[in-house]
Amino acid sequence: MKTLENVKPRVYSFGDKQADGNSAMKNLLGGKGANLAEMSALGIPVPPGFTITTEVCTEYKALGQYTVIQMIKEEVEQSIANIESFMGTKFGDMHNPLLVSVRSGARVSMPGMMDTVLNLGMNDEVVLGLAKKTNNEQFAWDSYRRFIQMYGGVVLGMKPASKDDIDPFEEIMEHLKEKRGIELDNEFTVQDLKDLVYDFKSAVKKRTGQDFPTNPWDQLWGAVIAVFNSWNGDRAVYYRNMNGYPAEWGTAVNVQAMVYGNMGDNSGTGVCFTRDAGTGENVFNGEYLINAQGEDVVAGVRTPQQITKLGSQRWAKLAKVEEDQRAIKYPSLEELMPNIFEELNTYQDTLEKHYRDMQDMEFTIQDGKLWILQTRNGKRTGAAMVKIAMDLLKEGMINEKEALLAIEPNKLDELLHPVFDPKALKTASVIAQGLPASPGAATGRIVFFADEAKKYKNSILVRIETSPEDLEGMNIAKGILTARGGMTSHAAVVARGMGKCCISGAGALKINYKKRILNVGETVYQEGDWISLNGSTGNIIEGKVATIEPELSGEFAELMKLSDKYGVMKVRTNADSPKDAKIARNFGAQGIGLTRTEHMFFEQDRIKAMREMILADTVKGRKQALKELLPMQRADFEGIFEAMDGLAVTIRLLDPPLHEFVPHQLATQKELAEEMHISLQAVKNKVAELEEFNPMLGHRGCRLGNTYPEITEMQTRAIVEAALNLKAKGVICKPEIMVPLIGTVKEFEFQEQIIRSTANAIFKERNDSIEYLVGTMIEIPRAALMADKIAEKADFFSFGTNDLTQLTFGYSRDDAGRFLPIYIQKGILKNDPFEILDQEGVGQLVKIGTERGRSTKPDLKVGICGEHGGEPSSVEFCYNTGIDYVSCSPFRVPIARLVSAQAAIKTTL
Ligand code: ADP
Ligand code: MG
Ligand code: MG
Repeated sequence: MKTLENVKPRVYSFGDKQADGNSAMKNLLGGKGANLAEMSALGIPVPPGFTITTEVCTEYKALGQYTVIQMIKEEVEQSIANIESFMGTKFGDMHNPLLVSVRSGARVSMPGMMDTVLNLGMNDEVVLGLAKKTNNEQFAWDSYRRFIQMYGGVVLGMKPASKDDIDPFEEIMEHLKEKRGIELDNEFTVQDLKDLVYDFKSAVKKRTGQDFPTNPWDQLWGAVIAVFNSWNGDRAVYYRNMNGYPAEWGTAVNVQAMVYGNMGDNSGTGVCFTRDAGTGENVFNGEYLINAQGEDVVAGVRTPQQITKLGSQRWAKLAKVEEDQRAIKYPSLEELMPNIFEELNTYQDTLEKHYRDMQDMEFTIQDGKLWILQTRNGKRTGAAMVKIAMDLLKEGMINEKEALLAIEPNKLDELLHPVFDPKALKTASVIAQGLPASPGAATGRIVFFADEAKKYKNSILVRIETSPEDLEGMNIAKGILTARGGMTSHAAVVARGMGKCCISGAGALKINYKKRILNVGETVYQEGDWISLNGSTGNIIEGKVATIEPELSGEFAELMKLSDKYGVMKVRTNADSPKDAKIARNFGAQGIGLTRTEHMFFEQDRIKAMREMILADTVKGRKQALKELLPMQRADFEGIFEAMDGLAVTIRLLDPPLHEFVPHQLATQKELAEEMHISLQAVKNKVAELEEFNPMLGHRGCRLGNTYPEITEMQTRAIVEAALNLKAKGVICKPEIMVPLIGTVKEFEFQEQIIRSTANAIFKERNDSIEYLVGTMIEIPRAALMADKIAEKADFFSFGTNDLTQLTFGYSRDDAGRFLPIYIQKGILKNDPFEILDQEGVGQLVKIGTERGRSTKPDLKVGICGEHGGEPSSVEFCYNTGIDYVSCSPFRVPIARLVSAQAAIKTTL
């Protein structure tokens, strides 16, 4: 089809069973254009057209409108001529006119990009010619009013003046409908449509000061440039930034001969899916409307009808329509136009087999002839994603590796948390929005204090922000809502760990703890009022919303099994309790990579002993308090070892600054003073004394164990005794004791010495022994740099990427919320490094640490724990760095298992 030689084409034609491009050229032609070309070459009836490449969009940005139009003018004119000869019509001709659509199309489909303009090429003369040629005035004028409406809105900026204004064209139509006493767009008479065209044009003139363009070529160039501009429109830029799509990609422009679904009762338009996008069920389905055009089906101007008879019957059941009524009033396409249906059915089958994935298609029927206007891999729910991939595998359409690569890791989340009933969500009233910090669905009564969470059977903990003291309450509450804090705030991290629904940083909430009320704008909510949280969208909803249990379908289990077949890197879990350990095991965790012992100290009876330990002034006093803690810790470890039954368990020694454990409220301080028989003042003094300027850089981690060796001693004893007790019961356990926050070799050596001598003492006492490892976290940059020396001593490394990120960037995790969002918005940072591992910088330290460590201990076991262990891109990085295992919260274990497999597969491709 190409006429120009030796120049890289800027325009690619398709139609008449041929095409210059194909579906592999998505980067150049955009997704829509590439697939139109491919379909055409496959012999599927696609209206002929052409695609102006994404590169031209970039050139336009650099060179401007005038130059770019000159550059592509000849090719565009030639391509229009190709369409004309195929269609037997002429662009701008008033007797036999060609009309076209102008459609945007980036390499990925982007909501918020430019809307499509249909019926371009219309003017006062063309409309008369079209009416005469088709002998259908209604159709010709309907097309004309649609064109002005779309062109006016998209190209001439005839948009509503403000958010609560209605579209100026809609306003005119509403007015006329009222006057005429009609409800639907298809009830307009020819005269009505003529009036609308006149009024629309006047509105354009009034608003823009310009006449509506009548020359089809002017219209065409105007629309092409508008598509290019839309790439840099606010909505598109926002969406691009959110997804990390670079500005250089640009959008393509597709110009295509119009086919008309609005020519009467033998015409129509619709959308269809080769499988169910909600459930994944292998049933062809979709909706259509007779005598309609473009987005009418999606926009809901009339109630659309079902494509298949089965679908129609299912729909009728829900809509409570009797079968005889259904067949007459809402017949399926299958019943109404059996031949067209058969043809469509063939194409959907062809396209799904060709693309080897579920397709989302658009079609139009013009006077009894079927045309396909778009196909793409259809968007789907997490459940559908898994089912479709596994079904395609079983059907032999894709192989195992392809099935695994077809899964979007983060979407598995949807399968792991309870979800709102989509039907209930439709009528829900959203009162505010926050960050979707932890997915899931929660409904409950508002409580403002953690210790009141148990007041109601279902509670939602609403806080300005949460702190470690709130842990128990957070665990009891059905969901957590905070006014402050980001995606790595305490509330968010803990909630994700618990697999609990959480919305954080909902700035619109005004919380008054004293009055126990919550203000959102004018509305006041009291303690005990029902609210619902949609942790997947960040929507805060008034009242109760029905939930449904997620279905961990058979396919999901099969997928996980398949992942383990290909995954090389192991996946462990972060678990602090037997309950979490069990959940993680059910999700396939291959061990525990991090048990944080401090969480155990926050529970009711323990916190007292813990506080006594902290408040003690002497070693003897501390030892006394630690003695009380010992049996409790030991019992915890026994529970965890038992749950993991033979799998490795890494236990981290006490890590946080002691200040976190002491009471900060007067009432609790008094209580403690009484219990310890000391003065309130003494308690207050100690609390003040423990306060640090930079607690995260202060007296914490191994610095605690090195200054108070008796703490390490007690913890080691609890671990080793627990293991010995279980050994006696026949349960094998191999604890891995982990020293946190070391920066120097000596820091480790001192701790190791205490651990080993304590263990040896116990072995002697019991006349029995177990195997155990002593390793360390690598979370201080210096430790990564000194890894060769440290590895000479340590049995294993575990990169604590939360602290490592904090210390490498020099960002306090607890204060980063003040500037990180702005940094991301301004593009100073691409994303939150606490969420997505900064491979470039922090990743270097992980690499260096691993390499240097293995230079002195070749078989050194290396893992990572921290929030990144369940984040797909970070997990992939870990595999490529040669890490032995990642450790993540229980609910992310399946995701990490999948990514581990995907990463391994990718290196074989
Ligand atoms: P989007 O990217 O928003 O889906 P499209 O470019 O696919 O926008 O077009 C919007 C609607 O217009 C779709 O229903 C599409 O099928 C219809 N459409 C686009 N081009 C034509 C055409 N040449 N003839 C008939 N309908 C068309
Ligand atoms: Mg479309
Ligand atoms: Mg740490």
